[in-house]
Amino acid sequence: MEVTSTTRIRLLLLLLAMASGLVVFGIGSATTMPVTPVMSFSELDTAIDRGQVSRIEFREGSSTIQGTLRDGTTFQTLLPPLTTGTFAQDLVDNSPTVEVSTAARVTSTSWFALLGTVAPLLLMVVLVWVILARMNGGKAASKKFTAKTQKKQSELQDVTFADVAGANEAVLELNEIREFLTDPDRFRNIGAKIPKGVLLYGPPGTGKTLLARAVAGEAGVPFFTLAGSDFVEMFAGVGASRVRDLFEEARKQAPAIIFVDEIDAVGRHRGGSAVAGNEEREQTLNQLLVEMDGFDVETGVIFIAATNRPDVLDQALLRPGRFDRQVAVDRPDLVGRRQIVAVHAKGKPLGPDANPETIARRTPGFTGADIANLLNEAALLTARRDLAVIGQREIDDALDRVIAGPERSTTTLSDKEKQVIAYHEAGHALVGHVLPNADPIHKVSIIARGKALGWTLSLPEKDKVLRSQSELTDDMAMLLGGRIAEEIIFGEPTTGAANDIEIVSGIARSMVTEYAMSGNLGLQKFGLGVGEAYNASTTQNYSDQMAEKIDDEIRRLIDNAAELARQILTVHRDVLDHMAAELIEHETLDKDALTTIFARLTSVSAAAGSSHDASLDLRHLN
Ligand code: ADP
Ligand code: MG
Ligand code: ZN
Repeated sequence: MEVTSTTRIRLLLLLLAMASGLVVFGIGSATTMPVTPVMSFSELDTAIDRGQVSRIEFREGSSTIQGTLRDGTTFQTLLPPLTTGTFAQDLVDNSPTVEVSTAARVTSTSWFALLGTVAPLLLMVVLVWVILARMNGGKAASKKFTAKTQKKQSELQDVTFADVAGANEAVLELNEIREFLTDPDRFRNIGAKIPKGVLLYGPPGTGKTLLARAVAGEAGVPFFTLAGSDFVEMFAGVGASRVRDLFEEARKQAPAIIFVDEIDAVGRHRGGSAVAGNEEREQTLNQLLVEMDGFDVETGVIFIAATNRPDVLDQALLRPGRFDRQVAVDRPDLVGRRQIVAVHAKGKPLGPDANPETIARRTPGFTGADIANLLNEAALLTARRDLAVIGQREIDDALDRVIAGPERSTTTLSDKEKQVIAYHEAGHALVGHVLPNADPIHKVSIIARGKALGWTLSLPEKDKVLRSQSELTDDMAMLLGGRIAEEIIFGEPTTGAANDIEIVSGIARSMVTEYAMSGNLGLQKFGLGVGEAYNASTTQNYSDQMAEKIDDEIRRLIDNAAELARQILTVHRDVLDHMAAELIEHETLDKDALTTIFARLTSVSAAAGSSHDASLDLRHLN
């Protein structure tokens, strides 16, 4: 049912008056009273933005405000419940041209006093408001949120494309959007079709939100931003009506940008899961689709959305005519990371040994957010150590912290536990070093960090997009090196390898089911992914006999990796013992210390003939 805003407010006042029993007026007397024009909250909002309002007066204990327009006319507006305080503050903060009468500027304390006396009344207001909100498809309740959208604009505008590094393709794509918004006719005149929707997708922390904010900063057009979760609200119908309001408002102020962050919260494919309470989300999504179809190049509104999970999005969103541009925002490569370091090192003096190049080399796989975090940690350490510039040491320590978590005290460990941890980590490091396709070992430590009691840091030498079969095999052996060392030395394992085992199981399963690397099951993919299956129970698209074979293959791969680790550790037992002893003494071994320890491998193998070569052959055991 549609109710116009004015009737709605009248109705609300009437209901209020009746409910509270404070005022009773007949219809006859109301018409003869001098009537001040009533402006709805959203009209007021627009009027304030357009600079048409000169003065607003808040009255103690009343949710009706008196206002004066620049042309002298006075008006009355009823504020949505509980917004009075924030609205007054918002006005003071954001609309310097509006004179706010401070007689009853509502502070939190006066609110409490107020609550005592008018609590029942307020309760009524809220109730009536909720009822009306539902009647009117949530239109009323969503006004508050429009105001919030507006407010964010000012803080958004200081981000520019210069703040986004290493994402050149995405910037190029979005720059085109900016050009269109600044001069739409140039594009229209030659019949160029500008996309309606741009979907930014990629792992968390790669700068998707940052990019969208930069477009706003660059384009200088109204920018409406919301997170997907804002749509999923408590009242039925509110999400859909928010979408409607959002597009309506954007259309009014076109050219404009609408940005919905984390759109997967609303845009998950419909009917995919059996979880209850999806109806609201589906309604919202449907409304979103309707709105996207309802505007075109002429409208001058561009819809940008971001997600970490493009795989779960409803296919309807991705059809041409909706998000016709899909821009991948990926983890940066070496050059990108160097640029990101440069951006985030502004105002943070780097020492000569900690230049962007070295930092970029040490951080493969890091996202922009990871790098920002790393530099901040390094700056904190530098300040704590009272140094003038950030050195390589601070970067190194920050890196450990960022990767493995903050250090924990190990005083509660018994000597035996310390030994187990030392052998476990030495096992990882030794197997990783001996195998040619595992990533080089940078650091080994038995100082607890985060959830790990000890840790071994191995970093690839360069960025990798592809992993070969032998790399995966060697990685598995390195991961199992810890557990196997425990077994060899102490005769029984501890619970310390749980995480290693989890990762190994994942690698082996993927090798068999996704990469067809088991060698025995042909070039097939086994199992359906998210979005491919109708529901969780139909992910198995193979026979039960095949399921058995898959399990056997996974088992075989893991057994082989364990055997490989066992042979290496047995052959190089002396180096393992030496490294564990060094770890117990020094707790952390860096690259130099490791090089010295590993040097024994070559001298030992030279003395023993060819044991090092033998270990290389081991890889080919099946
Ligand atoms: P996403 O939305 O992709 O999860 P964000 O945009 O929220 O990532 O990034 C978080 C923070 O990480 C940014 O505010 C910025 O400080 C930093 N950051 C991420 N990517 C970049 C980049 N490409 N260039 C510069 N800083 C970045
Ligand atoms: Mg984000
Ligand atoms: Zn381990």
